[in-house]
Order: sequence, then C-alpha cells, then structure tokens
Amino acid sequence: MPEVYRNYIAGQWVECKSKKTVPNVNPANTDETVGLFQSSAAEDAQAACDAAAKAQPAWAGLPAPRRGEFLFKAAEILESRLDKLAEDMTREEGKPLPEAKGEVKRAINIFRYFGGEGARAFSYQIPSERDNVFCYTMRKPLGVVALITPWNFPSAIPAWKMAPALVAGNTVVVKPASLAPLSAYRLVEALDEAGISPGAINYVTGGGGAVGNTLVDHPAVRAVSFTGSCEVGGKLYERVTRRRIRVQLEMGGKNPTVVLKDADLDYAADILVNGAFFSTGQKCTACSRAVIEKAIYEPLVEKLVAKTKKLKVGNGLEPGVGMGPAVDESQLKTDLEYIEIAKKEGAKLLCGGNRLTGGIYDKGYFVEPTIFAGVTNEMRIAQEEVFGPVLALMVAEDFDDAMRLANSVRFGLSASIVSRDLTRVHQFINRIEAGLITVNLPTAGVEYQLPFGGTKESSFGMREQGPLALDFYTETRTVYLKYTQ
Ligand code: NAP
Repeated sequence: MPEVYRNYIAGQWVECKSKKTVPNVNPANTDETVGLFQSSAAEDAQAACDAAAKAQPAWAGLPAPRRGEFLFKAAEILESRLDKLAEDMTREEGKPLPEAKGEVKRAINIFRYFGGEGARAFSYQIPSERDNVFCYTMRKPLGVVALITPWNFPSAIPAWKMAPALVAGNTVVVKPASLAPLSAYRLVEALDEAGISPGAINYVTGGGGAVGNTLVDHPAVRAVSFTGSCEVGGKLYERVTRRRIRVQLEMGGKNPTVVLKDADLDYAADILVNGAFFSTGQKCTACSRAVIEKAIYEPLVEKLVAKTKKLKVGNGLEPGVGMGPAVDESQLKTDLEYIEIAKKEGAKLLCGGNRLTGGIYDKGYFVEPTIFAGVTNEMRIAQEEVFGPVLALMVAEDFDDAMRLANSVRFGLSASIVSRDLTRVHQFINRIEAGLITVNLPTAGVEYQLPFGGTKESSFGMREQGPLALDFYTETRTVYLKYTQ
C-alpha cells in the first residue's frame, strides 16, 4: 500500500476534510504509485489560510536572523537526506537522478542563502535635505502569501518562493502541482523538524481550481507568487488584480540558442543537446529553437543529430540515462501532437518523432528526442511552447537575421548565444528580448543567487531569487526622524 501524505496546517499533519486522496504516479513506471496525496478542496485551503493569518503577527515579531535559523536547520536536514530526496524526485517527476540531485542541492542552497538574508542589511539610510533629520527605509512583511508551483522543478521552485517569503516575516500557504507534490512535502517536513513556528508554513495539495481560487480569494492573502503555464497565469492575474494584491507570475518560454559562424561546432552541438533535451525539454528555460548562421548550418546539424541519437532515454533511476519520460500522459500527447503539427506545416523531421515502445518503455511516457529542420517563423512549432523534447532548427542569413528570428516570439524568458566574437556577443546581450541571457552556455542552468525572470509574456511582476527576491515579499516603509525639537 503506498504511503499516504497529509496536508500541513497550523503545525499539524492533517487529512483533508473529505478524506479523499489522489495517487502520485511514477511517469517512468506507471505500475508504481509514489504516494497518495490529499485531494483538498476549498475548505482545506481556507483552513490553511486561517492558520497562516493567525500565526503571522508572532512570526513577523521574531527577529529576522532567528527566522533565518529555521531555514539553516532545515537545509541541514535536507542535506542529510539528499540521496533519498533526489530519488523521490526522479520517481515522481521522471528527471534523471543526477539532475534531481542537482535540484535538491539547489533547494538547500536557496534555504541557506535566504537564511543569511535574515541577518543582512535590508534597507537604506538616505541623507535628508533638512537639518537633524535622519531618513531611512525599512522592510515590512506583507502578511500571508500564497505560493502556487509547477511540477517541473518540484523542489527548487517551492524553495525559492518559500525561503524569501518566510525570512521576510510572511506566513505561507504553498500549493504544489498535483503531478509532483512529494518534493515540496519534503521541504515542509524539514521545516517542521527544524521546529518552525506552527502556522508559519502551511502545505495543501489538491486541484488547482478549487485550492488555487480559495487561496487567491482569501482576505488574509496579500500576495500570490505563481509559476506555471501562461494560460493559468493569465486567469490567475485577472482574479488576483480584482483584489489589488501583489502578484508575481513566471510562465512559459520559447527560448532560442543563436549559433554564429565562428562557433566551435562540437561545443555548440553539446549546448543544444543539453538545452533542448535535458529534463525531457520540460524546463521553462529549455531551448526549443536553434537559430543557426547559414555558413555552419549543415555541419552543425550533422553533429547535433549524431549527438542526439546517442542520448539514452529511460528510467531516470538507471545510470547513464540522459533523458527521462514526459511527466504524464497528457504531456506526452502534447509532445506527439506538436510533432504531427510540425510535419503537417512542412518542417523536416531529422530524428526522433515517435513514442518509444517495448520493454520498460511500455510502462512509461517515453518519447524520442526530436529535431525538425526547415522551420520558419510562422510555423506553430516556432511560436508555441511544447514543453517537451522537440527542437526547431531555423537558418539565419546573418547576425541581424538571427536577431530578428530570435526575437520574433511572444515569450522572453531565456536566450543563449554560442560565439567567440565579442562584438556580436555584446550586441546580442543588448538586443535580445529575454530576462535571462547566457553566452556559450545552454539556455537553462541558472543559479539561485542571481535574479530570475523573463520579459514579454513569460513573466509579470518582480524578479525571483537573488537579492531582488525580497522586494516582492516586503513593503518598503520610509521614515523621516527629526532628532531635535
Ligand atoms: P500549470 O498547469 O499552469 O500549473 C501550475 C500550478 O497552478 C499547479 O500547482 C496547478 O495545480 C495550479 N493551478 C492550475 N489551475 C489553477 C487555477 N485555476 N488557479 C490557481 N492555480 C491553478 O503549469 P504546469 O503544467 O504545472 O507547469 C508547466 C508550465 O510552467 C510551463 O508552461 C512552463 O514553462 C512553466 N514554468 C515556468 C517557469 C518560470 O520560472 N518561468 C518555471 C517552471 C515552469 P494542479 O497541478 O493541481 O493543476
């Protein structure tokens, strides 16, 4: 019998009111149920928000360095369980074990980084133009914040929202994605064992509509931080702004890698394989468009296809596997649908394009890493987020044409360039429409101590992670203090 995981409300592990659960199924082996999670409804979300509201004044009253200590302790607990937590993640989400391990390490680093924020200088002292007046700003927490997270980074994303929210003095209700709720559960479990004040962090699983809407509508909730699809983010935005509370949305991407004619072709091919196919292309920062200068197009594509064919697809727990399954049947269907759309629109299939079957593949949602050539800007495969291992190749006449193609989408999350030409690299950095820019690196693979976020339709609101993260979770108060009368 699979283990039953409960909600965490007011410092207690509790069943949802209906006592119903939903299975969390391993996408690489659908015979395995990773766990049973609470099928919460509005009343459970309401209880979590009430608990957070009750706990908030006392939590905010603790000195910030002491709030940070809970994050440090939780980080230690998580570190002692690193291997187990990585395995949990691979089993619920499908990504290969080394990637899962990297993500858990990142969550640990995030807890430590924001634990340290508790003891750093938060605000400014600014000179006054008046005599004997001392001016400064101070940060105040917002109150209760609701965090709604996706399945593809099931540990790092909840961590990078929870940690700054908590250290700033907010209390939190987190709702993880139904497809991968265990990794966030592990973070909350560690905070519980670290002795965090009851009600400071609350965890509720359940369908996005019922739980999500209640969180957004609860009068105590003063901010919503969401990561997920543009579709859900758009609806959430309309709902949240009716209440005029703070909102932060991190959504989809259609991220380009531009390869210029001076690039080392083997190096460029490796970067494309990593960016497009690691984590089965299920990263918001994954590369889904390669924009290649005409002069090197043929030889680069030859190397890229050869390297892609060598990628071992399988259960991420097996050594040597480079790409795991799609996260569920619906995502697999989406991948295969886009492959058909691309073919119908006239793109040329260079490799992949099929669901994998036979042996272990029959137990999971495996699809081949897929590359299309001859993709033009008007095709849906060039414009829409697939969120799977499907790479579209586009030929650029020259650098200006490459910039035109790279910027011709509604998204603007991440973008990379492969080149040794310093002038072109700087021009790219200035002209590319993306919030995250990498040079001679894949589009994915960012670090916790720097700001994260996109432009255009990929993101809305303030940046996450790094030193800017606290701006979202605090309000600035400005003080003018005259120390004479
Ligand atoms: P999703 O379907 O939008 O779901 C995200 C979260 O929203 C889940 O917890 C979901 O709950 C919840 N939700 C669904 N309907 C809701 C509603 N009506 N109100 C409130 N919450 C609701 O996205 P996903 O499939 O999990 O994740 C994939 C997407 O996330 C991709 O588009 C990817 O690009 C994007 N993403 C962006 C970033 C970034 O930082 N820019 C990072 C990672 C992923 P259920 O799971 O219960 O439906």
